[in-house]
Amino acid sequence: MKHIFFSVGPSQLYPTVPVHIKNALKENIPSLSHRSSAFADYYKTAVTNLRKILLIPDTHEIYFTASALEGMERTIQNTVKTHSFHFVNGSFSREFYQIALDLGKTAKRFDAENGQSFDFKDAVIPDESELITFVQNETSTGVSTPLENIYAVSKSHPDKLIAIDIVSSTPYIAPDFTKIDIALFSVQKGFGLPSGLGVMIISNRAMQKARYLSNTQHSIGSYHNFLKLQEFGNKYQTRETPNVMNIYLLSKVTQDILAKGIEVIRHETEVKAQLLYSFFDNHPRYKPYVQEKYRSKTTIVIDVLGESGKVVDLLTKHAITVAEGYGKRKDNHIRIANFPSHTEQQIKRLIRILKYGK
Ligand SMILES: *Cc1c(COP(=O)(O)O)cnc(C)c1O
Repeated sequence: MKHIFFSVGPSQLYPTVPVHIKNALKENIPSLSHRSSAFADYYKTAVTNLRKILLIPDTHEIYFTASALEGMERTIQNTVKTHSFHFVNGSFSREFYQIALDLGKTAKRFDAENGQSFDFKDAVIPDESELITFVQNETSTGVSTPLENIYAVSKSHPDKLIAIDIVSSTPYIAPDFTKIDIALFSVQKGFGLPSGLGVMIISNRAMQKARYLSNTQHSIGSYHNFLKLQEFGNKYQTRETPNVMNIYLLSKVTQDILAKGIEVIRHETEVKAQLLYSFFDNHPRYKPYVQEKYRSKTTIVIDVLGESGKVVDLLTKHAITVAEGYGKRKDNHIRIANFPSHTEQQIKRLIRILKYGK
């Protein structure tokens, strides 16, 4: 029986990826020059398709990095002179804050309890904050922050840049880019690709901030500062030798997603999430960790009463991988990815094994 990965990243490959990898080898993609016109065509196809899937307007450009964490670091370097502000409700949102501190910024944070959403009315965002960050889907806890809440913060702080991490929710989630300056993700989660490629979507306004910082003798980093991303991105290239293979695969998988229809994928995501949540809502012992309103549809976290080892062992015997809890909740939780690469049939198999032990 084929192994199924419900791990939250890397995860199950999008079903067409093995064929695309075979074709890539036939077409010698791993040896392709990143200065060739063939490479530029793959780059262009990948970003054009992403624009269609996520409805990215012309006010925003799409660039490649090595990872989502790199996207966080570039965001801080290129948009913050001194002050940043971070909504923190888990490990990845804390990482965004920590990166700002590591880069010597005066970073402030507003916290929510693990597994909970924010009390937005209590958040005091200092005037001097230049950037506000969110992790829209906290993979560590399974909490999804409603986009409406993020838009409300954006609306009440029109002078500040807004950056959101959509790593483990996109392409199910696509923000309204008129309200967001920067969105970042990596491709090994919702896009079902091998790891090692990040994507940044950057507004003209954020680009202007980077230009201003650079012109006023502030460091915005080196080969992947926003200005370099733009200079090379305009030619469908990157400053460095990038992950050519993954950019090729992204150009193919985004094509497949468009052919299937992103609305179909979103509907399937909701159906599969509903199957999992209703199974666990009715489970005699194991329960969803997050209250209904804030439950992620794409990374589903279940409190298994310290028995994650037992659950993981049972599933492994049936060639299924799920993630244990994050950090200190390793034993208490299991985390189940529900990405476009996961089929309803696979989810039903997972449920059947948990229900009947076979
Ligand atoms: C996985 C993950 C990251 C880190 O992604 P990398 O590609 O490893 O940098 C960041 N944020 C969230 C929400 C994630 O789930």
